[in-house]
Amino acid sequence: MQKITQVFKNLGVKQHCESVCTGLNWIDAVGSEHRKIVSPTDGKKIGEMTFAGITEYEAILKRAESASNFWKQIPAPKRGEIVRQYGNVLRENKEILGTLVSYEMGKSLQEGLGEVQEMIDICDYAVGLSRQLHGLTMHSERPGHRMYEQWHPLGIVGVITSFNFPVAVWAWNAMIAAVCGNVTIWKPSEKTPFSALACMNLMKKVLEANQLPEGVFTLINGDKAIGEMLANDKRIALVSATGSTAMGRSVGKMVAERFGKSILELGGNNAIIVTENASIDMALRAIVFGAVGTAGQRCTTTRRLIIHDSIYDTLLKKIIKIYKQLNIGNPLDANNHVGPLIDEVAVGHFLNAVEQLKKEGGKVLYGGKQLKGEGYESGCYVTPAICEAKNTYKIVQEETFAPILYVMKYKNISEAIAMQNDVKQGLSSAIFSNNIQETEVFLSSQGSDCGIANVNIGTSGAEIGGAFGGEKETGGGRESGSDSWKAYMRRQTNTINYTNNLPLAQGIKFDF
Ligand code: NAD
Repeated sequence: MQKITQVFKNLGVKQHCESVCTGLNWIDAVGSEHRKIVSPTDGKKIGEMTFAGITEYEAILKRAESASNFWKQIPAPKRGEIVRQYGNVLRENKEILGTLVSYEMGKSLQEGLGEVQEMIDICDYAVGLSRQLHGLTMHSERPGHRMYEQWHPLGIVGVITSFNFPVAVWAWNAMIAAVCGNVTIWKPSEKTPFSALACMNLMKKVLEANQLPEGVFTLINGDKAIGEMLANDKRIALVSATGSTAMGRSVGKMVAERFGKSILELGGNNAIIVTENASIDMALRAIVFGAVGTAGQRCTTTRRLIIHDSIYDTLLKKIIKIYKQLNIGNPLDANNHVGPLIDEVAVGHFLNAVEQLKKEGGKVLYGGKQLKGEGYESGCYVTPAICEAKNTYKIVQEETFAPILYVMKYKNISEAIAMQNDVKQGLSSAIFSNNIQETEVFLSSQGSDCGIANVNIGTSGAEIGGAFGGEKETGGGRESGSDSWKAYMRRQTNTINYTNNLPLAQGIKFDF
């Protein structure tokens, strides 16, 4: 693994003041807030970022508008070629970008590398998609008429992203938006601005090599005020926002108010049901990875475990045994399984949730403490918690973005499914069972109400080929594979009359 200073150097990331990137050039932000960015892994300063304000925002918008006119006229497969080249640049820089993600966000190096791999995968997917932006043809009810639909670019897409996937979520949106003919303005999380800078530095190489104008891909580092500007701005056709439900509720309202389009990818409260017919060893792997991976900071993290009462004690014993063996520490050290939370505020939320659980009558079976001492100087490390709880507890109903696994019992499968569905969020869900009746009920219209429902696979770690997103307070948006691209385009229905007559639809007579 390369030293962090070398990683910065190789990625061309300066550690101060590069807040706004127009694709080719950097504009230093003026007069806005200067923020120190600290790594949760060791508590050391990564650099300083001057966050952008309205002046830089307007400069970015101007460039994006002019780039949009240019980009939407480029044939889609040629747009795909630019994305293909970016995928290759990412391949060449996978290790260093993955290392920076891991250092800035605190996820394990393996997960940092996985995140960059996801970007590469989405580039490949988008390249293929650039030749498949199909519309349908329909038979007209009128003779001598032809009817079909086509898809046009939207214009400017605003992408607001969360800290826990500092780079992949941008790529999910920006690469698909790009082949669809849109330009993007990216507002990353204020907690992970340097990973975003690195992505744009790599993109700059591709734009320069192809002599593309500035504004096709742009980046504006800032806090929620910039997100609000995007949400309120009529010039932004689509706002794709990933983050908490509170953020989505606010952004969704602002965008709807001006009749804009939005994709909302918000919080989850994901459960695994383990039935008496499950393969326990498989379930164990999925439960532990799902609950402690990324230190419980994935939208798809397993937060609730609904266990059949006949295997409850045995399974819990095994889970606790594995938790005791987990190495907690610097995520850049491959021996560690669990890294830090993003900051001390997140640690506070974790500790408060554990206290709240106890007040509501729950029991901490393992963990739930902040770690102190050598290796934990950043103050962001905790022992993942396993807590006995009821699904109805207020704290269980909330998404606490930390490694807390609430365990509960059930007697029959319909009760388990009802518990799984009885939360406000609807992102990911899973069942472990080798009984086809149980698994089919779980997948039926009477089953899981989530956007993702898995059988014998955990709740986290989705593949890019499927549409990704969730129902209820998770926001209803879909990104990534399947036909998610349609959200980044506008549909137009065209009817062409190649006769000398003008018959009206539905046989309506209008003669004069
Ligand atoms: P967050 O809501 O605090 O911030 C996310 C982004 O929104 C940031 O860029 C932030 O600056 C911006 N923002 C916050 N409030 C805003 C507002 N009122 N208007 C405009 N922009 C605003 O979330 P976070 O802590 O960075 O990320 C964790 C959350 O994201 C969790 O709830 C997690 O479940 C969710 N998440 C969901 C998905 C998904 O696909 N469903 C994926 C990743 C993360």
